Amino acid sequence: MSLAADTSVRGSGSATSLDLGPARALSCRECGHEVPLAAEFACPQCFGPLEVAYDFGRVTRESIEAGPKSIWRYRELLPVPARVTSVPNTEPGLTRLIKADRLGAELGLRNLWVKDDTGNPTHSFKDRVVAVALAAARELGFTVLCCPSTGNLANAVAAAAARAGWDSVVLIPSSLEQAKVLTTAVYGGTLLAVDGNYDDVNRLATELAAEHEDWAFVNVNVRPYYAEGSKTLGFEVAEQLGWRLPEQVVVPVASGSQLTKVDKGFTELGRLGLVEATPYKVFGAQATGCSPVSTAYAEGTDVVRPVKPDTIARSLAIGNPADGPYVLDAVRRTGGAVADVSDAEVVEGIRLLARTEGVFAETAGGVTIATTRKLVESGQLDPDAETVLLITGDGLKTLDAVSGQVGPTATVPSTSKAVREALAAQGL
Ligand SMILES: *Cc1c(COP(=O)(O)O)cnc(C)c1O
Ligand SMILES: [Zn+2]
Repeated sequence: MSLAADTSVRGSGSATSLDLGPARALSCRECGHEVPLAAEFACPQCFGPLEVAYDFGRVTRESIEAGPKSIWRYRELLPVPARVTSVPNTEPGLTRLIKADRLGAELGLRNLWVKDDTGNPTHSFKDRVVAVALAAARELGFTVLCCPSTGNLANAVAAAAARAGWDSVVLIPSSLEQAKVLTTAVYGGTLLAVDGNYDDVNRLATELAAEHEDWAFVNVNVRPYYAEGSKTLGFEVAEQLGWRLPEQVVVPVASGSQLTKVDKGFTELGRLGLVEATPYKVFGAQATGCSPVSTAYAEGTDVVRPVKPDTIARSLAIGNPADGPYVLDAVRRTGGAVADVSDAEVVEGIRLLARTEGVFAETAGGVTIATTRKLVESGQLDPDAETVLLITGDGLKTLDAVSGQVGPTATVPSTSKAVREALAAQGL
């Protein structure tokens, strides 16, 4: 097939010339209505969100294990062409899964793992979703990669566009952490800092997506493809556990997309016979200053009421989460829960993970650790069940969270006497 898809496939054009691997159609999560593969995100019948539906071929553990050491080893389970590895894109994934006995002892969890997704090309799990979005967007005929972002997505989009030789247009709230602004700007591309919060930025991006037919907003008009990238976190955890599902997984929640797709990934592995379909529980973690899903969970409702975010966990600060109701569904269906923690607890969580496991997470990681502690204390997490915590971003991007909290043990004059005295004060 030709490399550049005919421009008529953008929007609601025919899907016959597209190669999106095992993807068969887009299907409405609300009413099940199907539309051909295209850059659509809302159901034409009921405006519900569309997601990718598949006809999977025969996929084996061996075929996956023989694949590249990146998310592309799962390409037979993703909406991307088979030639995805031969065109410029990032190679995220296969980040380490570490046994976390010291953290487990502190949290009261006897069988604990940490999935350390700080090891991706731009140091967050967003590289996974952007790589899949770029591959699908290329096939759909787009030429510019765009997003509204709370920070990590901005990094991932700007970097992936740079590597692919595409232009990028990224919109961020101007209040974002300085590190996330610089680590986006350095890749080139257009970066607009908007005086507003994420929900404002998202609304502006949605308007632009309607006006520019060759701009792929990864989390807006190609969102169904983007979202599938998060399944690879679930796939990797299962493969790294020796082709088994964990019994409990704790996932930070912003829009909620990641949590629902980790669940989808586990389910698909079971259906395809790649793992035994053993039961697992999915737990969601939020910061109290932006906890619309946790609040709905506690109130026992399906209605997620939008909030105005006020938390240091800016990467999770989405006040009106698109996938909120589906998070509630996944959590309730599997027997999990959603909880939230204060900013002070987030900082304690960051420090606890760093001091016990040598992993420096950003604020979202602090949310996951602190929420895990809370869920153990409330008896909602089983201390004996095998548990995986998703650490989704790197602490170097959110240094403000710990500055003033940690620093040198002592600052001393350059004399051996002063050094010895300072060590002696530490009992050393
Ligand atoms: C975006 C983000 C999340 C949450 O992702 P959603 O899919 O929107 O829920 C979690 N952690 C980090 C570090 C992120 O950047
Ligand atoms: Zn519908």
